[in-house]
Amino acid sequence: MTLTLREEDLVTAGLIEPARLDEIRRVAEQFSVAVTEEMAALIDPGDDRDPIAAQFVPSAAELAVAGEELADPIGDRHWSPVPGIVHRHPDRVLLKPTLLCPVYCRFCFRREAVGKAPAMLEPAALESAYDYIRRRPEIWEVIVTGGDPFVLAPRRITAIVRALDQVPHLGVIRFHTRVPVVDAGRVTPRLVAALVAEKAVWVVVHANHPRELTPAMKAAVTRLIRAGIPVLSQTVLLRGVNDDGAVLEALFRGLVAMRVKPYYLHHADLARGTAHFRTGIAAGQRLVRSLRGRVSGLCQPTYVLDIPRGYGKVPLAASAAAPDPVSGGWIVEDGDGGRHAYPPDPDDAKDDGAGF
Ligand code: SF4
Repeated sequence: MTLTLREEDLVTAGLIEPARLDEIRRVAEQFSVAVTEEMAALIDPGDDRDPIAAQFVPSAAELAVAGEELADPIGDRHWSPVPGIVHRHPDRVLLKPTLLCPVYCRFCFRREAVGKAPAMLEPAALESAYDYIRRRPEIWEVIVTGGDPFVLAPRRITAIVRALDQVPHLGVIRFHTRVPVVDAGRVTPRLVAALVAEKAVWVVVHANHPRELTPAMKAAVTRLIRAGIPVLSQTVLLRGVNDDGAVLEALFRGLVAMRVKPYYLHHADLARGTAHFRTGIAAGQRLVRSLRGRVSGLCQPTYVLDIPRGYGKVPLAASAAAPDPVSGGWIVEDGDGGRHAYPPDPDDAKDDGAGF
């Protein structure tokens, strides 16, 4: 387990110039600050555009709040029927046993809540959350999130998994975590054993840049996979961090090569003080289209937007097919931007036998 660096430690570690400490303290009055030593070690202090530093080291840009930004961008509070539960879709709920994280990502969509009191769901509230799930047979999947549930002691994770494993109508228990990336040593054999259940337990890791795919992260993920736990990933599209085709390609190839399937590429949410991280949707669509021609389907997550105020996720990638008003068929675009009639014109035989 690594230590966590906070405001003053960031100066001592050479990640923030002493002259910036006041500005950082003003950010920290509003939003939690922490970076693990593991992530700090990846930062090049001489690079003022370092993509790891951008994710974890606070900046004065966070003090600028854009008009469209929201304190609760995807409507967690509105969709929370009891403490610790978010129930946005009939067949699944979020369960948030803790609001603590090993790091505090500067773009986090829950930045108004993470790291703040009450950091833990009280035992009685956790029991009420289980009751809420038990009484609703339409709930098929529980997504254990937070905060980061992997900061909990293995005995607490065991208790959560056991409680959920005993709910007959549940099919899947899914954990969302950044721990295997930012604090890989926490993925101990005891933590892995805590996740083993009769029901399917899935883990979704959050990784945004290929430099996060360290040997320690690979070892942590391998421990999970060898225990029979499928691992997916989610990535947030972030300006100055990964809004580049080659960076995303390296990230997704790296994940797949360690048996992690890229699941979602999130358009950054409208969290307060995060405008400097957001790309436009058109730029995101261009990036995703460029990936289509460069990497196999295994390396292509779904590019999604969480509609503000909690109306759910929708795919954002532009369709490769458009109606062709002339033929009544379709025009489809390949990964290199070439356009083709679908179905092909039967009189145009030049493509036949093109190596398929
Ligand atoms: S680890 Fe997840 S929940 Fe915690 S700050 Fe980062 S994005 Fe937010």
